[in-house]
Amino acid sequence: MRELVCIVCPRGCHMQVDEDLNVTGNFCPRGAAYAKAELTHPTRVVTSTVRLTGGTYPRCPVKTSAPIPKDQVAALMSALNDLEPAAPVHVGDVLVRNILSTGADLVVTRDIPQK
Ligand code: SF4
Repeated sequence: MRELVCIVCPRGCHMQVDEDLNVTGNFCPRGAAYAKAELTHPTRVVTSTVRLTGGTYPRCPVKTSAPIPKDQVAALMSALNDLEPAAPVHVGDVLVRNILSTGADLVVTRDIPQK
């Protein structure tokens, strides 16, 4: 039996999952879907920042456009260290398409003008 807290909504249901992936404790079906995915193929949307050249801020917030496999998060964070886009940047700009062949793009989440 595994115990999980659902992170799909703020209610945060405490769920139990047995060896056959039967889920209890979830208030709605989204919790069961989350629990099964988390135990078979966990993924995360990654949010972070990268260095920025010539902007009014030294770093630029970014996120993946879709969840990526959890076991690739460390590699993604390492890859972000090699990026240094130039200002200006705009919300939705794609910095890297299909980053690490995950199928997700790395996108900018804040407008930052040039200095
Ligand atoms: S099971 Fe449903 S109600 Fe409970 S935290 Fe998950 S999404 Fe929210």
